[in-house]
Amino acid sequence: MKIVIKAQILSRNNAILNRRLEDYLRQLEQKVQELTISLGQIETRLQEEIEQNQEARATFQRLKQELQNLATIDSLTQIPNRRRFDEYLNQEWDRLTREQEPLSLLLCDVDFFKRYNDTYGHQAGDSCLRIVAQTISRTAKRASDLVARYGGEEFTVILPNTNLSGAIKIAEAIQQQIENLQILHPQSDVSEFVTVSIGVVSQVPTLNDSVENLIAKADRALYLAKAQGRNRVVVAE
Ligand code: GH3
Ligand code: MG
Ligand code: MG
Repeated sequence: MKIVIKAQILSRNNAILNRRLEDYLRQLEQKVQELTISLGQIETRLQEEIEQNQEARATFQRLKQELQNLATIDSLTQIPNRRRFDEYLNQEWDRLTREQEPLSLLLCDVDFFKRYNDTYGHQAGDSCLRIVAQTISRTAKRASDLVARYGGEEFTVILPNTNLSGAIKIAEAIQQQIENLQILHPQSDVSEFVTVSIGVVSQVPTLNDSVENLIAKADRALYLAKAQGRNRVVVAE
């Protein structure tokens, strides 16, 4: 009898324990479900944040590039500007001083350009400058060459590791290519088309000379090219 009663008590206790266990399991399952939902939400938010971050990074890179272009590209002709020219010329001067290799510089100036503007207007003048810039850029095409707008209707070409005869060849090619464009310029005294005069200088840079001197020599050669009749190449003394 005692055994029967004990067995009944045990089985009741078991039933109670089982119910509790089932309750716990249900609660646990619910918690797991809630946590799974929360984790999913966190993952979605993180994914969104990562995407926003990537977008922000891409925007930053694009803005940085635009700023860099604004600082170094001439807005009218879309070729390197005077600032980039100064920077590159100094860099190459220093490098070629160490290597004792030649550095050549061309200064190109459009002939009678004021008259061109007076004839066709400023906008036509701007278009002409764009074409001249592109033509010079196409002619000096080594990766290390740099064609820049020096100012107004003047363009400059930096030719690293190029000796005088190489520089003269490029200058003559530029002069020819510009005249070959056959851009009508009836008010020019030297041709029926737009032409350029070019001053050339070439030297192996040395520590006791300077970039300013190099530019001054090219400038004097350009002045002589104008004085000797324009549409020509003159080499610095
Ligand atoms: P030269 O043969 O002696 O070089 O004569 P030039 O008329 O070309 O020289 P000058 O220095 O007297 O005049 C340069 C002209 O270039 C003046 C200006 O009207 C024109 N110019 C300079 N910058 C620009 C520009 O950005 N756009 C236009 N359309 N014209 C410009
Ligand atoms: Mg000029
Ligand atoms: Mg001019």
